Amino acid sequence: MDRQESIRNIGIFAHVDAGKTTLTERLLQHSGAIREAGAVDAGTAHTDRMDIERRRGISIRSTCAAFEWKGVAIHVIDTPGHADFSAEVERSLWALDGAVLLLSAVDGVQPQAEVLFQAFARVGLPVLVFINKADREGADIRGVIGRARETLSGRIVDMDDDEQLHLLLAEEDEAALNAYLEGNLYPRTRLLSAIRSLALAGKAHPAWHGSALKDEGVVPLLDGVITYLPPPSGNTDAPLSGIVFAVDNDKTLGRAAHVRLFSGMLSNRDPVAVPGGQGKVSQIRALPLEGRGRDLGVLRAGEIGAVYGLGDLRVGQVLGNPSLLPRRVAAGEMVAPLLMVKAIPGVPAAKKDLRLALEALSVEDPLLGVETLGGDLHIRVMGAVQLEVIAELLATRFGLDATFGPPNVIYRETIARSAVGFYAYTMPKPCWAVVKFQIDPLPRGSGVRFESIVPAREIMPRYQHQVEQAIPLAIRQGMLGWQVDDVLITLIGGEHHLIHTHPLDFILATPVAFMDGLKRGGSVLLEPILDMGITAPEGCAGRLLSEIAGMRGETISSQLRGESVHMTAKAPLATSVDFSVRLAAITGGRGALSIRLAGYEACDLALGATCPRRSVHPLDTAKYILAARSALEGGVWGGEHHQES
Ligand code: GDP
Repeated sequence: MDRQESIRNIGIFAHVDAGKTTLTERLLQHSGAIREAGAVDAGTAHTDRMDIERRRGISIRSTCAAFEWKGVAIHVIDTPGHADFSAEVERSLWALDGAVLLLSAVDGVQPQAEVLFQAFARVGLPVLVFINKADREGADIRGVIGRARETLSGRIVDMDDDEQLHLLLAEEDEAALNAYLEGNLYPRTRLLSAIRSLALAGKAHPAWHGSALKDEGVVPLLDGVITYLPPPSGNTDAPLSGIVFAVDNDKTLGRAAHVRLFSGMLSNRDPVAVPGGQGKVSQIRALPLEGRGRDLGVLRAGEIGAVYGLGDLRVGQVLGNPSLLPRRVAAGEMVAPLLMVKAIPGVPAAKKDLRLALEALSVEDPLLGVETLGGDLHIRVMGAVQLEVIAELLATRFGLDATFGPPNVIYRETIARSAVGFYAYTMPKPCWAVVKFQIDPLPRGSGVRFESIVPAREIMPRYQHQVEQAIPLAIRQGMLGWQVDDVLITLIGGEHHLIHTHPLDFILATPVAFMDGLKRGGSVLLEPILDMGITAPEGCAGRLLSEIAGMRGETISSQLRGESVHMTAKAPLATSVDFSVRLAAITGGRGALSIRLAGYEACDLALGATCPRRSVHPLDTAKYILAARSALEGGVWGGEHHQES
């Protein structure tokens, strides 16, 4: 077998409680990697590492497990199931060539599975399905596969159902269709080999079932992984390209960057271009289940490993040549946190330590967005469970005691009606940049667009380019302090000066002219709206309907399936932050909730939501120009300005 042929990099994905940790333990046990499967219920699972994970019985940080099955090295990246950690899930997709989606034969296709499946589809990842908990009373394997085919993909096929397999082939291939119509089902071996080609290309999703707890159906799944999921591809002789998808810290070896290589090769003592200079690889190890992994010495295209010695690498950083990354990684659209909270140190004197500790944590979690606003430390999070984890990490890793303020929604804003914004930056000399924008509102979900209708003789192309470059800075905080969304910004006029225009003048002038226009057009506050999927015992339906209405929400559908009711609804994040807690109370803990961002909608300005400014308001122009000039000279404009207090 060639080297890449004998590797599979996979992830196991599931709704919380579907049995992912239990299944991972079984896979490890069958391969001989561990002697006995640990048990989630006893808090002894090998892949749940953090204390808080053991205590709460949930997985939070992605962990890796490597084992061998029939001569194939399988690397499993275990990913968190809780919705607060969906960004971690997206990052782990970077490292994978295939996925196993776990569904529960009892609870069926939970909304979270739909969210996951959409993420796979977006990056074109091959996916297998395992229906777990087949041993439980009330298990309905056919029913769950049927619903998965309806709600996830019609290309999910029951591997025990030859007719279903043949029908999927018939969709792709006329000969198979004719054979079917003539009543000649292909022999099983032929069906399986055709399904295999489709599965490797992500066009068929074979489904198996069994019980992780009772150890049933696990071996066919292992065979399935090596047969129906593709090996990595990538050229070892090409230049280096790879991505850091997780980081870990080892007390003596220092920071371990968990790297997936897509092309090239990395060896001990290789110099590597890293952001801010050059690093030198000191060690390369296999990703360990616990402690340190085996010393590998080299990492080749398609492989995953822990790389030491490259300094302060962060999650998401690229090693080598970014243009060689596969499209699914380069596209890397990340889920953004929707809540902002104030972080308060236990004692005021510890504020600086707290900031340093949070910044250290943001190496592992790049979306944490630590910043000082109005003199207070703020971080961005997805939800309450994540805050609990952060508090625990601060205590155990840094010995810091911290509390968090109430979570605040991260709003956006847009312009109410079309307006023109103007600024002539001609003082204090030497400078010359005159900018005139037309700003128009766009429909929700359009984002920000920039156009120019100004001829080159009025503003030289390179200065127009600077205006465009300054737009992301200008929209970071609008009149209410929130990021500006859904506007068309058209450069309609202005002038440069052949002698007086300084290279960066247009970058300075752009935010002032933009804000001038925003002020004239009036502000609209935009709030995040969530799509919710709710599963609850039938008797709770009435309570839930009034609960949703009470959140300014809207119930979209409500269906009875067996003894439970499945509802879909839309509601503002602002009123549903603690809905999962209320759901648990209403259903006596028997409800399930999944959420995803549906988009932003206008809400009442009287909500009064504003965000403190990061730096001087551009319409406080004299002060702003001074601050921006000195910052530009220091080369740090656009970075964070920390105000210590
Ligand atoms: P995770 O949250 O997806 O990692 O799920 P866990 O592996 O922690 O399992 C959640 C619960 O379901 C635990 O109480 C497991 O013992 C139980 N469980 C997992 N797999 C099975 C199974 O196949 N059958 C039954 N009956 N219970 C299972």
